[in-house]
Amino acid sequence: MSQLEIKDLHVSIGEKKIVKGLTLTVRSGEVHAIMGPNGTGKSTLAKAVAGHPSFTITSGDVLLDGKSILAMQPDERARAGLFLAFQYPSEIPGVSIANFIRAAVQARLGEGAELDASSYYKRLYSKMDLLKMDRKFTSRAINDGFSGGEKKRCEILQMAMLEPKIAMMDETDSGLDIDALRIVADGVNALRSTNLGVLMITHYQRLLGYIVPDHVHVMWDGRIVKSGDKDLALELEAKGYDWVKNELVPA
Ligand code: ADP
Ligand code: MG
Repeated sequence: MSQLEIKDLHVSIGEKKIVKGLTLTVRSGEVHAIMGPNGTGKSTLAKAVAGHPSFTITSGDVLLDGKSILAMQPDERARAGLFLAFQYPSEIPGVSIANFIRAAVQARLGEGAELDASSYYKRLYSKMDLLKMDRKFTSRAINDGFSGGEKKRCEILQMAMLEPKIAMMDETDSGLDIDALRIVADGVNALRSTNLGVLMITHYQRLLGYIVPDHVHVMWDGRIVKSGDKDLALELEAKGYDWVKNELVPA
C-alpha cells in the first residue's frame, strides 16, 4: 500500500504564484482525476511533483509513503516510485523499445546490479500479455514513425515495466483519436488492478468515460475547489467550469 500526499503545496514560476495551497492524497489502486480550465496550474502541479527544475516549491510538502521527496532529484523521485507520462513523447530512431526499456529498468537497479536478460524478457513479455500487445512491437525503434496510438502503447508499456507506485498523466488524452484513447484506457485499467495509483490530469471528460475515476477534483486558480466522485466530471461536462466558479464564495 503506497500513497502520495500533497500537503498545502505552493508553487511559483519566477515571481508568479501558480499553485496556491493544494492538498491531495492518492493511494495505490485509486484513480484521481484533476480537471480544470487552461492556465489553472494543473501541469505546474505535475511537473513540480516530478521535480522539474523550473518550478519553485515555496511552501508545503510532497510525501511518498510518508517520506518527503522535495529534496530528491527527479531521477531519485522516479526510483522512489513516481512516474510522469509525457504528453508528447520523443522519437529515438535506432533504439528499439526493448533495449530502451531495458536500459531504464537497469538504471533503476542499485549500483553493480546486473539485469538478467532472460528474466527481463520474461517480465517484458508477461507485461505485454497483460496489455495485449504484439511481441513484434518491441523490436521497433522508439516512437520512430509511430502513430499516436503506438506512442501511447509504448508509454504504457514503459509504465508497466517500471512499476511505479504512483503515475501522473498530464493531458494524456489530448489530440488522441478513439483507438489511441482506448489503448491508454485499457492499459491504465489493467495496471490499476495491479495496485497502481493514478493522478490523471485532463481538461475534458472524454477519457473519463473509459477510465472511471474514484475521485474527481476541480482545480481553479491553483487550488482544488471542489471534489466528488465520477458524477462530478459529468456535471462539469454538462454545466462547464463557470458553474464551479459561480459557486465559489468570494474570499
Ligand atoms: P494548466 O496545465 O492548468 O493549463 P499550467 O500549469 O500549464 O496550467 O499553467 C499555469 C500558469 O502558469 C499559466 O498562467 C501559465 O501561463 C503559467 N506558466 C506555465 N509554465 C510557465 C513557464 N515555464 N514560465 C512562465 N509561466 C508559465
Ligand atoms: Mg496543462
